[in-house]
Amino acid sequence: MGTHLSRTIAEGRAFTQLVGGRAVDSLSGERIDVLSPSDGKVFASIPASGAADVDLAVRAARRAFDDGPWARMPAVERGRLLTKLGQLVEKNGTELAALESRDTGKPVRQGRADVNATTRYYEFYGGAADKIHGDTIPFLDGYTALTLREPHGVVVGIIPWNYPLQILARVAGAALAMGNTLVVKPAEDASLTTIRIAELALEAGFPEGVFNVVTGYGRDAGAALSGHPLVDYVTFTGSPATGAAIQKAAAENNRGVTLELGGKSPQIVFADADIDAAVPVLVNAIIQNGGQTCSAGSRVLIERAVYDEVAEALAERFSALVAGPHDADLDLGSLINPRQRQKVTGMVSDAERAGCEILARGSIHADAPESGFYYAPALIAAKDTKLAIAQEEVFGPVLTLLAFDDEADAIGIANGTEYGLVAGIWTRDGARQHRVAKRVRAGQVFVNGYGAGGGIELPFGGFKRSGHGREKGFEALYDMSATKTVVFNHG
Ligand code: ADP
Repeated sequence: MGTHLSRTIAEGRAFTQLVGGRAVDSLSGERIDVLSPSDGKVFASIPASGAADVDLAVRAARRAFDDGPWARMPAVERGRLLTKLGQLVEKNGTELAALESRDTGKPVRQGRADVNATTRYYEFYGGAADKIHGDTIPFLDGYTALTLREPHGVVVGIIPWNYPLQILARVAGAALAMGNTLVVKPAEDASLTTIRIAELALEAGFPEGVFNVVTGYGRDAGAALSGHPLVDYVTFTGSPATGAAIQKAAAENNRGVTLELGGKSPQIVFADADIDAAVPVLVNAIIQNGGQTCSAGSRVLIERAVYDEVAEALAERFSALVAGPHDADLDLGSLINPRQRQKVTGMVSDAERAGCEILARGSIHADAPESGFYYAPALIAAKDTKLAIAQEEVFGPVLTLLAFDDEADAIGIANGTEYGLVAGIWTRDGARQHRVAKRVRAGQVFVNGYGAGGGIELPFGGFKRSGHGREKGFEALYDMSATKTVVFNHG
């Protein structure tokens, strides 16, 4: 099965971090084994850094911000460096896709899609760097008032394991476009492409200390980074519990945070929808990346009149889904680690115990190694909107179906969780499209479609427990900068 490169990439490599433009190990010399989720086998290692390593990285970023050439570099030059990085990502795309897939267990096809989005992020922010500017403000007679958009300073990016390339790119693209310096901590389960991107950033010509990477466990390196007093701003994508810990750590220094914390995003199917067009999209919205997507469309709300029809069409597709090794490029790969598989298994068993019916199951390919972390996708009819399976993020290939009576009921169920990240609405009624899009509490709403993670140009972020602040698109540039008001008294 699969290509040679995606099976052997980085075999035996002891990866290093990048601090102040140099490849370094952790001060303690301790390392973390890197497993391929496809077979559970160790194939590389990364440094296990702690507070002392983090301190060195933050100081390098601080120096680069305060004293280095970066601080005086014109926006157009910063943009050129980002564009160059995008070109290098594209040039090294085959290697990066293979590395991402082996490290995370995602199909190589998905790794390739991630590389393409990553290239676009760096291109987009490269182009945007010199197109964001302040205002002049009508003020008192004898005065001129204007605003400048200034970088925060040292920005931290704490990155999850589901889309390391893409999430790093949306953070780094916007932060560097605005002239911040960066310290990134990738997830201990998926750090390899982040290290490679930092290497490519050096090759692109970013000055030393602008793009730093420290690897290690969240409780060590991550906690030290989010509470470091020389850090100016923290961005995080991951679980609500970790987001709260990071927010508290940043609060010790009264620093700002952008948090993207996942969801339980509804896809709402009205009886007048184009069901044939909807069904493949409904499935892809949860199956992409094995359901390990913050913006996965994990609940399908179906108007009662078409419930059986839609459920049957979904069941037919779910039964045909196959999970297997990343390099086999099947419908989905493995989950990231045994803990995640245990969590998904537990939530589905709890739902069954609570009386929910499993309408269909996909399968695991016969050639998939027993030692891999596979989970056969499940389609579940939820008995009750209050059950965990209808309320909480599973972060696996599990789609929950719920029936609704009318538009008001649909909106009530859609908004009836603690989350508010994305929503999909399927209806041919134009007025209803607008009404529901306005009433659904979600940072992104797709009408007659769904875009789990897609659209690098589109502002993205949550309401409620899905977090706050906006990433992606031009909007992210505002989060990654602060307004300075300057007033001239010229009489
Ligand atoms: P998971 O539990 O699935 O790993 P998390 O949301 O905890 O998901 O992890 C996302 C990122 O947050 C990872 O880079 C992880 O190392 C980091 N992290 C975990 N705990 C902390 C913490 N207490 N402080 C800072 N970062 C953390």
